[in-house]
Amino acid sequence: MSERSSKVSGFYKLGIKERLEFIKKFAELSDEEVKVLANTGALAGDQADRMIENVVGVMPVPLGIAVNFVINGKDYLIPMAIEEPSVVAAASNAAKMSSGFFTSSAGPIMIGQIQTVGIKDPNGARNHILERKEEILKLANEQDPVLVKFGGGARDVEARVIQTGSGPMVITHLIVDCRDAMGANAVNTMAEAVAPLIEKITGGRVYLRIISNFADKRLVRARAVFPKAAIGGEDVVNGIVLAYSFAAADHYRATTHNKGIMNGITAVVLATGNDTRAVEAGAHAYASRSGRYEPLSRWEKNADGDLVGTIELPIAIGLIGGATKTHPTARVNVRILGVKTATELAEVMAAVGLAQNFAALRALATEGIQRGHMSLHSRNIAIAAGATGELVDKIAEIMARERKVRVDRAKELLEELRDRE
Ligand code: NAD
Repeated sequence: MSERSSKVSGFYKLGIKERLEFIKKFAELSDEEVKVLANTGALAGDQADRMIENVVGVMPVPLGIAVNFVINGKDYLIPMAIEEPSVVAAASNAAKMSSGFFTSSAGPIMIGQIQTVGIKDPNGARNHILERKEEILKLANEQDPVLVKFGGGARDVEARVIQTGSGPMVITHLIVDCRDAMGANAVNTMAEAVAPLIEKITGGRVYLRIISNFADKRLVRARAVFPKAAIGGEDVVNGIVLAYSFAAADHYRATTHNKGIMNGITAVVLATGNDTRAVEAGAHAYASRSGRYEPLSRWEKNADGDLVGTIELPIAIGLIGGATKTHPTARVNVRILGVKTATELAEVMAAVGLAQNFAALRALATEGIQRGHMSLHSRNIAIAAGATGELVDKIAEIMARERKVRVDRAKELLEELRDRE
């Protein structure tokens, strides 16, 4: 084995320190660089080591607080974990301009899928499954008495016959109320437990038993009115409606429209220790449910000429399980939010997504996003060029004014300003 081989047997058995030594040698890291990794901050090294595998450090992301949010008449401070400048400021500004957010949701319902193959009479098998619904539900609920005690559990069974490249399959859906859990572990356990019964009922063979991230029974909605006087007048309202129409008609634009929404949602998902990939997968799949990728939000003008924004998407998150309960920062963030249920948290996320979308569309429909974005971004560029202390702001300011936010310009300015000192 050469020194540069990435094939390491037993890497997982090493302690964090030994793993660091190994990668130090592999990547020729300096002591300073190793120190950067070893500093795990609020999440102790051994905690991180229990969360995932082969841990060598943490990846800190800035945590900001979005202000001004009034949702269903309640005030919220919203922790957002994100590396991108201007997102937190934009959400706060948008919330300030709104007359508050109003939300609703379908409930914390997830779907577990059980794939059965090798059935001669798939339609007959489908009906057999539905005839034995109560038995299937009982078996599923026996797996999670805690969830049942908290008012959740398997509620319904659905079955579909699908035609695939490998022949017909019968897909059973377990419909599970997950209460305050995101539900993946809970649902997967149930799906695995009922699989032998499904095989017995159908005479087929079960392969996959897994939650679906297309959580279209866990829809969350938010609505807000942005008075025209608060957002810059009728032109701005019209501009945002036109921006929405563009997104609704064009998937190139819709993708970016939805990216802006997810800037807000994913930042809250991450700050609360929830599964960002599960929410992203669900959101984009939902955006494509008609067969065409569409915006997750809609913008229109009401009878008073004010702007009305609405959003609807699946948000599968929890307050129990995952990292939400184990990550110390996530726990504090949930306390700051003051949410009592996973559904309330999901609704807050939908409101943040709508606010974020409004902020981006307003900027795009007026001065363009680059001015606001660049003044924040230019600080990052100044730092990347090596500026420290007061020079960061000085250089950032000059570059933003010149509209030349580039590392080469930052380096030039750094030399000039240093020479002057
Ligand atoms: P979990 O299994 O850790 O916790 C859920 C359990 O907590 C419930 O089953 C229940 O027994 C108990 N519980 C106690 N009080 C509860 C309450 N008030 N409401 C609901 N349950 C309560 O977590 P989970 O939510 O089942 O799984 C989430 C994790 O699964 C995430 O970390 C996610 O990343 C991961 N995961 C996701 C996928 C996917 O999205 N495809 C697949 C596998 C795993």
